[in-house]
Amino acid sequence: MSSIFTKIIEREIPSDIVHETENIIVIRDIAPKAKTHVLIIPKKEVRTVDDFGKEDASLISEMIFTAQEVATKLGVSGAYQLQFNVWEKWGQEVPHVHLHLLSQYN
Ligand code: AMP
Repeated sequence: MSSIFTKIIEREIPSDIVHETENIIVIRDIAPKAKTHVLIIPKKEVRTVDDFGKEDASLISEMIFTAQEVATKLGVSGAYQLQFNVWEKWGQEVPHVHLHLLSQYN
């Protein structure tokens, strides 16, 4: 079943897109928990970090390199946090894996 992030990727619902590649989309979080708060979302539908397989190794590294690139683009490259919430019991609300990038700057 498609998550809200798939609907965003497919432009069925609007979002504030800050970066996009063939495999990844980066959007501003709708309820930011820091001055800068974006979500790095693979277009591939993977439910949570535990569902990544070895075949996703390059996608996972692409997420990290995208974080570096977006942090630079948003002017927070000197001070930011990356966070995965893994499973609902630890606060994962959207069942489509995503990496939070947060910063108190910009
Ligand atoms: P998590 O709790 O790790 O699953 O994070 C999900 C995040 O998605 C939360 O920080 C929400 O504020 C954010 N979110 C939910 N719906 C949207 C949306 N339509 N556009 C942007 N961010 C969203």
